[in-house]
Amino acid sequence: MNIHRITYNPEANSCSLYFIGCNFRCTGCYWKKIYPEVNLKELRLLDLEEVMEILRPVSPRRVIIISGDPHENHEFSILPKTLYDEFQCEVRLMTNGYILPGLEGLSHVSLSIKAFSDDIHRKYTGRSNCIPLKNFAMLHEQGVGLSSSSVLIPGVIDKEEIQKIGRFIGGIDRDIPYRVIGYMPVNGLPYRKPTYDEVREAAESINGSLANVVFSDPKEYDYTGIVDLFTDNLRQ
Ligand code: SF4
Repeated sequence: MNIHRITYNPEANSCSLYFIGCNFRCTGCYWKKIYPEVNLKELRLLDLEEVMEILRPVSPRRVIIISGDPHENHEFSILPKTLYDEFQCEVRLMTNGYILPGLEGLSHVSLSIKAFSDDIHRKYTGRSNCIPLKNFAMLHEQGVGLSSSSVLIPGVIDKEEIQKIGRFIGGIDRDIPYRVIGYMPVNGLPYRKPTYDEVREAAESINGSLANVVFSDPKEYDYTGIVDLFTDNLRQ
């Protein structure tokens, strides 16, 4: 199932499942630097039963399926339901929206919309945004808890593009929470970090379309207190 890492936050009794690989090829992606150095054939990846065995001792209250996006397969399809049936936990999915699992057992989807204009989306990710946008509307129709985010990348995904995404989401439901995130530069890639004011202005510019907009200007992630329940050799 391409899960290469499981982390555990004891304080929140929450686990995160990390997939390796992605069906997009975002030109600003952090993983672009990592993948060429990884021999995927040598990685130990977990199947569904192994994931469940690792999670059982901690019986998480929340599981977050996170990072990249998996390829379509049966185990991924039944992952939310299997987690919910076993732990009665909250199951959250963070996704680019291209491939979704079965919705049974899923409490919340956070769908990252890379761009609204299909030409920009294709150029940035290598794929059309037709399927993610349709999936976004479908998730709302199905009553799954939904939020969204986009990364502001100066010169690539600008304020105007963020406004179009805001209008798209607002056309579905103006109460869907939306976060504008400032791009974190990756060594060797030609994109800069937006200034704090650029991120704030992009977020403020869509307040007319959406009722619940926040922005963040990420620095380094804080992993204090997070432990690995399983990890492959990527972090060694
Ligand atoms: S969707 Fe996320 S993980 Fe996949 S290529 Fe784009 S930035 Fe990277």
